[in-house]
Amino acid sequence: MKPLAIEKTLVEDWLGDLCDDFDVFSPSMTKKGFYDWAPFQSGTGLQVPTGVPKSSIKTFFFPQPEVLFHFKASVSDPDAYRLKEPDCQERKALLFGVRPCDARSVVLNSMPYEPDPYFQARRKNTLIVGLLCKESCSTCFCKWTGGSPTGREGMDLALMELEDSYLVEPVSERGQALISSTIFRKPKEQEISLVQELYARKNGEDAASTLRGKELMALYEAPFWNQVSQSCINCGTCTFLCPTCYCFDIQDETLRGKGRRIRYWDSCMFPLFTQHASGHNPRGDKIKRVRNRFMHKFKYFPDRFGPVSCVGCGRCVRDCPVNIDIRQVLSNMLGV
Ligand code: SF4
Ligand code: SF4
Repeated sequence: MKPLAIEKTLVEDWLGDLCDDFDVFSPSMTKKGFYDWAPFQSGTGLQVPTGVPKSSIKTFFFPQPEVLFHFKASVSDPDAYRLKEPDCQERKALLFGVRPCDARSVVLNSMPYEPDPYFQARRKNTLIVGLLCKESCSTCFCKWTGGSPTGREGMDLALMELEDSYLVEPVSERGQALISSTIFRKPKEQEISLVQELYARKNGEDAASTLRGKELMALYEAPFWNQVSQSCINCGTCTFLCPTCYCFDIQDETLRGKGRRIRYWDSCMFPLFTQHASGHNPRGDKIKRVRNRFMHKFKYFPDRFGPVSCVGCGRCVRDCPVNIDIRQVLSNMLGV
């Protein structure tokens, strides 16, 4: 699949045309002064933040909250229930401007969610138009976790920003179908060589592969967990913003014989997350919860699925109210 190019001034027109077939979302500046995902609106000007928006794109695949099904008790037979599943996503969605870390998180999340029909239906119905990174932000570290600022994993189309244009590379067949319009042109030689130069940049240290060679269970009682957990206030911000945290709880809401079963985000940083009905809590102490978060990302998930469960987006570094920095924890785990 050959790359094409589009002038920057025409991108809004292109997205406007795509709105006929998709619910299009892109990063937008909120009234609170940060970028977040919002429905794209023609004529408001395209906004392209340097780093990742506040929220990750997991909300499009794993909505908060999500109705799994509605139920209704039968009046004649109180033991009989009628169930109705909602349509997961009626209209196709298109996410524009997804950075490589966020696009890769969808690939990682679909490993544990492989048997989940809700997640998989949304994945099938959602196209990802990625925006490759020329520079990393101060909080990003995708290169440490097996990713890359120019990685295309999880994308349908990959855009690289140039001076007055974008080079547009189709990554999937459905991405190719998005660029059939005459708005796109053949790229100039100079545009191709600029992008090749960016692709050729060295990725640097991959801590993920170093971790694979380490016996991490030996770190279970390491003294640094105490130090890391001391300042944590168990607010859950890191897990809710993290694109690769996917823990949930399920509740039934009922009223007069009718109800719905809902799945909503939960966090392993909350004490109640692991509390048993008996009152016993295997992770009742803060240190156990903090250790679990990092061990899950760098030991338990890779043991089961291969890659580490962190894409280095830096959201938890940027927004932890007490400045716990996962890069420092990772360095502790690596012993560097
Ligand atoms: S954001 Fe920081 S303080 Fe809040 S739960 Fe996560 S590590 Fe703890
Ligand atoms: S753990 Fe932190 S840096 Fe890693 S993916 Fe989650 S929010 Fe991003």
